[in-house]
Amino acid sequence: MNPLGQRIAQLIEAQGPISIAQFMTMAAHDPVYGYYATRDPLGAEGDFVTAPEISQMFGELLGLWCVQAWREQDCPSPARLVELGPGRGTLTADALHAARLDPEFLASIDVVLIETSAALREQQAATLALQEAGVSIRWLDRFDESLSDRPLFLLANEFFDALPIRQFVFTERGWCERMVGLDKDGALRFALAPVATMLAIASERGLPEIGAVYETSPAAEAMVEQIADVIASKGGAALIVDYGYGADAGFGETLQAVAEHKFADVLDRPGEADLSAHVDFAALARAAEGAGAKVYGPVEQGAFLCSLGIVERAERLSRNHLQSTQTALDRLILPDAMGTLFKALAIVPENAPTPPGFAA
Ligand code: SAH
Repeated sequence: MNPLGQRIAQLIEAQGPISIAQFMTMAAHDPVYGYYATRDPLGAEGDFVTAPEISQMFGELLGLWCVQAWREQDCPSPARLVELGPGRGTLTADALHAARLDPEFLASIDVVLIETSAALREQQAATLALQEAGVSIRWLDRFDESLSDRPLFLLANEFFDALPIRQFVFTERGWCERMVGLDKDGALRFALAPVATMLAIASERGLPEIGAVYETSPAAEAMVEQIADVIASKGGAALIVDYGYGADAGFGETLQAVAEHKFADVLDRPGEADLSAHVDFAALARAAEGAGAKVYGPVEQGAFLCSLGIVERAERLSRNHLQSTQTALDRLILPDAMGTLFKALAIVPENAPTPPGFAA
């Protein structure tokens, strides 16, 4: 067992089994051993590759998406551009680069990056310094009250899949929460809570069979509610891109660990693998609508990027880098790559026009 595993085992010994959400939080954010706290997980030498790291086209198109949404809401000034979990800072850098087409937009915004990891903040600062956009950039640990004073234009790519989930398993006793406990040798293992939870599960998933697993992310829903609340009252637009369920969320477990581009055991070496789970877009949509905002999508990433003009953009870029541009385009839009598993969801004020890429 690694040092963080030992720490978690001691905690369980002292207080009993912990929820998967608590386990995920410690694995991701423990200040000494946590996955995000200690490393840059992205890229070929890291554990996984994300869309902005595949091609500049992704961030450029999302940046122009924000500019167009801002124009369609009559160019509010001052306004704010926020990215959740910016990784290496590539998405915001490419978005700001594309937004230079509209100096008025750049002059109206300040930029806030929501990032818990000190190591990644440093990396983001370096990426954005190279970019010299001339806009003010600051960092926050979490999406908080201070972001509710202006229209909010927000981007999040592969952020919500990293937020903690809880799992419930349908048993003869009813829905029991799956916890992380200890086996007789003191190693971490999954175990069901002995007492069933009173839980109303969304009926659109049908009737559960014994063994069915229900995943839910209260943290993700609470965050979307907060964001939608600002957008509904102050204006703006949020674009959430991630892998996950559309309307088809069923009962199934999706919690996974990835290290060095391969699946790993979830409990084996906490803090050394990326933990993530399918995003339940329908649940996020309900949270946003509950806060009084309007939701579009989710639409599949391939169709979304095509309607924003990624094919035309790739044609222009490929004059210089023919092979690499085609490979990147394929990875972003083809169904057997990121084209259909990844989806985009938009949140706008009730009376705003349909955001780009979401027309029926
Ligand atoms: N959006 C980037 C990186 C995705 S990895 C990309 O597409 O390349 C997830 C990012 O979210 C990392 O930057 C991680 O440090 C950050 N993160 C994870 N959980 C977080 C939390 N609860 N609060 C703030 N940032 C978080």
